[in-house]
Amino acid sequence: MTLTIKEKIEQLRDIIRYHDRRYYLENNPEITDFAYDQLVQELQNLEKTHPYLITADSPTQRVGGEPLIQFSTINHKIPMLSIDNTYSDKELREFDQRIKRMAGIDMHRDIEYVVELKIDGVAITLWYEKGLFVHGATRGDGFKGDDVTANLRTVRQIPLKLEPPDRRQKIPSVLEVRGEIYLTNNEFQRLNEDREEAGEPQFANPRNAAAGTLKLLDPRITAKRRLSIFPYAIGYFEELELATHKDCLKLLQGFGLPVNPHTRLCKNIDEVIQHCNTWDKRRSELDYMIDGMVVKVNSLALRDQLGATSKAPRWAISYKYQPEQATTKLEEIEMQVGKTGTITPVANLTPVLLAGTTVSRATLHNFDEIRRKDIRAGDYVVVQKAGEIIPQVVSVLKEKRDGTESVFCEPEICPECKSTVRKDGVYLRCHNPLCLSQAKRRIQYFASRQAMDIEGFGPALVEQLVDKGFLKDYADIYYLTFDDLVNLERMGEKSSSNVMHAIEESKNRDFDRLICALGISNVGFHTAEVLANHFDSLDTLATATQEELEEIYEIGPVVAKSIVDFFRNEHTRDIIEKLKAARVNTRKLARQTSTNNPKVAGRSFVITGTLQKYSRNEAEALIRKSGGRIISSVSKKTDYLVVGDDPGSKLDKARELNVHILDEEAFENMIQNSKE
Ligand SMILES: [Zn+2]
Repeated sequence: MTLTIKEKIEQLRDIIRYHDRRYYLENNPEITDFAYDQLVQELQNLEKTHPYLITADSPTQRVGGEPLIQFSTINHKIPMLSIDNTYSDKELREFDQRIKRMAGIDMHRDIEYVVELKIDGVAITLWYEKGLFVHGATRGDGFKGDDVTANLRTVRQIPLKLEPPDRRQKIPSVLEVRGEIYLTNNEFQRLNEDREEAGEPQFANPRNAAAGTLKLLDPRITAKRRLSIFPYAIGYFEELELATHKDCLKLLQGFGLPVNPHTRLCKNIDEVIQHCNTWDKRRSELDYMIDGMVVKVNSLALRDQLGATSKAPRWAISYKYQPEQATTKLEEIEMQVGKTGTITPVANLTPVLLAGTTVSRATLHNFDEIRRKDIRAGDYVVVQKAGEIIPQVVSVLKEKRDGTESVFCEPEICPECKSTVRKDGVYLRCHNPLCLSQAKRRIQYFASRQAMDIEGFGPALVEQLVDKGFLKDYADIYYLTFDDLVNLERMGEKSSSNVMHAIEESKNRDFDRLICALGISNVGFHTAEVLANHFDSLDTLATATQEELEEIYEIGPVVAKSIVDFFRNEHTRDIIEKLKAARVNTRKLARQTSTNNPKVAGRSFVITGTLQKYSRNEAEALIRKSGGRIISSVSKKTDYLVVGDDPGSKLDKARELNVHILDEEAFENMIQNSKE
C-alpha cells in the first residue's frame, strides 16, 4: 500500500513530534540531532512541493522564517504582574498570616501552597486556540509585550499543537500558558565558546543570553540556540474546570508542556520554608540557574478572594536566594591562550569561599570588559558564581583603592610564544601555529569527552607531557609509551596502564568524533556530524574544495573556508599522516551509514530535468534516505546524474566528464533495490 503525499507528510510529522518528546520531555533521545534534522529537511522538501499541505503546527515551522524588521506589540488579555519578593523565613510566615487575615481564615488552620523553582530566565506567554499555538509574547511592561511568535516557534519544547493525554480531555477553545524561557548552563557555555571563537563578546549570564536570543529579529539564529521553557501557570482560559494551581500544572503537563519536576505541593507554611531552604543548598545540582522559589496559594477560589494590588497578586510571593557573591582581592590578571589562539584575561584571586567552594580564579571575559569596568590588579572585587560556570568579576570596589593598583595594559605579544598578537573582534589572537599554549589546549580538546574521549587524559597530564617534550601535537598521543607516562607526577603504574588502554581504545572512535577532535575553527560537534555524513573518509574531506563544501546544507562560506584553510596547512598534513600511521580510524564506520545500499550510500547525485514519478524534492529525499548525497552542480567527483525530461546543460557537462547517467527507470531500480 502506498501512502498519499498527505499521509506521508502526516506520518513524518508524527515521527518528528515523537522525537521532540523523547528529546525534550523525557530527556532520552533515540536518534542523533543530525538524523533529526534530516527528518525535518525531508518534511520541508515535501511541503515545499505541496505548499497547500503546510499547517501551522508542522514541525517545519520551527526552523525559523524570514527575519523581521521589528516586533509588533501584543496586549495581554490578563496583565502579567510581577511578584513581590521576600528574603527570609520570617517574611514567608508574615505572608502566610497576611493571607489568613485578609481571607478571614483561622490563624491555626493550614493553607496549601505550591512551591516552584524560580527560573532565572525571561517570562513569556503562549496563546493557544483550539489547541494550536497562535502567538506568543514577552512580558513587556506587564500590559503589552513584543510579539516573539516566530522565535518561540523554534523552541522545540513548546508544542505547536496541544496533544491531550486521552480522548476524554477536551482541548479548550482558548488557553494561555505562561512560562519562563531559559538557557541551560550547558547551552550557555556552548554559545559563549562559539562567540569567543567568532571574536564576538560573550554573554554575561544565561538570562542575558536567553533574553538576547528571544529578541533576535532573525528566527533562524534563534533556532540554532536551544532555548528551553518551564511553563508555570495558566493565564486566560475558556471551557476548563480548574480548582487548584496543581490542577493547572497537571493539565499543562498532560498537554505535553515540560512542567518543572521539582514543583511541590506543600501542606502548610512550615513545609514551604523547608522546601525553600532545601533548594537553596541544592541549586548547584541543576543545569539551569534559579534565583529563588515562588510560593503560590493552591486554591484558585482563595486566589480570587485575595485578588491583586496594581503591581502584584496577593496570593503569590517569591523567596529570593542571596546572590552567590563574595568580595576578595584580585591579585593579578593572567593571560590564557585558547586552542585557536584567542587570548583571554583571567583574574587570579585571593582564595575566597563562594557557594560552597573555594574560588581562586574568575573570568574577565575580554579586554573591553576590563576597560569598561576599570578593573586593575590589586583591586578588591565582587565575584559571582553562575551555576556550574566559572565565577566572574561583577564589579570593582573603587573606594578600597590605595594607589598601589596597576592599570592593565593589553599585551602586544603572546604570553607563551612571544609572537606578535593581532586584534580579532573583542579578542586578541596569537597566530603562531607552533605556539605551545595553543598546542596544549588543542590536545586537551582532542582528548576531551566530546571529542576522542580518552579517559584519564586531562589538562594536568597534557601540561606535563607538552612541557617535557613528549607531545607536540595531538597525533603524538598515539606514540606515547608506558615509560613516558609512568615517571610523571601523580601517575603510577596503574593509572599509566589505564591511560595507555584508553588511548588504544580511542583509535576506533566514529568518524564524526575525529572531525570534531581536529579542532578546526568554527567546526563544533554538530558541524562535524554534518561533515561525517557527507564524506566517507578524512581523505575525501581533506581534498574537498570551498565550492564543494558550500554546497552542503548547513555549511556556509565561513565554515567552508575554515575547513579548507585547515587542511591546506602543511602542519595539518603531517598530523594526519601520523594519525593514520597509528591506525586511528579516519573513515566512516559501516553503522554510521543510514541505509545499507552500497550503490547509493556515500555516492553523490545531481538531478536535472523533470522526473515523471517524483518531484525533485521527493527524489532528493529518497537519495538522502539511502545514504546518498545531493550536489547542485556536476563535477568530476559527481557519481551519478539523474536525468528527467528537458534536461539542462548539466547533461552535456556530465557526458563531457564521463559521469554515470541514469534515466528515471534506472534511478528507480537503484533506489528500490535499496529498500530491501
Ligand atoms: Zn602564542
